Amino acid sequence: MTTHPATAQGDRAQVPLSALEHYAYCPRQCGLILLEDAFTDDASTVRGTLLHQRVDTPGNRGRGTVRTLHALPVWHDAYGLTGICDTVELHTDGRILPIEHKSGRYHPGGPADIQAGAQAICLQEMFQRPVTEAAVYSAADRRRHTITVDDPLRARVQELAETVRTMLTGSSLPPPAADRRCRRCSMATGCMPKVLAGNRRYHQALTGLYHIDDPQDDDA
Ligand code: SF4
Repeated sequence: MTTHPATAQGDRAQVPLSALEHYAYCPRQCGLILLEDAFTDDASTVRGTLLHQRVDTPGNRGRGTVRTLHALPVWHDAYGLTGICDTVELHTDGRILPIEHKSGRYHPGGPADIQAGAQAICLQEMFQRPVTEAAVYSAADRRRHTITVDDPLRARVQELAETVRTMLTGSSLPPPAADRRCRRCSMATGCMPKVLAGNRRYHQALTGLYHIDDPQDDDA
C-alpha cells in the first residue's frame, strides 16, 4: 500500500476534491484510487475523461457579463482540501459559480453535489466573498443543475474531508459495498466485491460456529 503523493503536504494529508465524491459514492472506491492507485477506466470513465479534457484547458474567456475560468486550481487550508475546478463563472454582479462537469445522469443530493459544494467552499476562501451556489452539468441530460451551498452541505463536506483524511493516514481499505453501486463502478474487476463480501460473511459465520456463550454472562 502506498501513500498517494498528491495527498502529502507538510504533516497534514491534503484531500483531493474528487476524493470526496468517490468516498460519498463508495468508501472502498476512494480507498482503491488513493491508497492503491488502482483507478481503471471503463466506458463511463473514458466519457468523463474526454468531457473533462474539453473543459480542463486552463484559460479565461469573457462573454458579456460573465468571465469563465477553466481548470482553476483551488484549495482550502482550514479544511485541508485541494483540487481543480472544471469551470468557474465570474459574474459582473459579483456571483462566483463553480460548475462540475459529469458524463452521467445527475442525482440530486448525490456525490457530485459534495464535490461541487467543496469547490464553492474553496472558492469562497480564495476570493474572500460568499459563494452560495454551485452547479453540476450533466452531459447525459445536457442540463446544468444548481445546488445551494448551505450550512448542512458545508458541514457534510467538512465531515467527509476528515473521514477521507483518516482513511488516507490509515493502512486498510474500507470493506466492499457489494450492492447495486458495484454495477456502475469502474473498479469492480479489481475490487471483487462479491468475493470479498462472501469471505467476510464466511469468516463471521466460522467465528460464530466456534463461539460458546459463557454461562456467567447470563448471570450478570
Ligand atoms: S466495485 Fe463496489 S465495493 Fe468495489 S469499489 Fe466499486 S462500488 Fe465499491
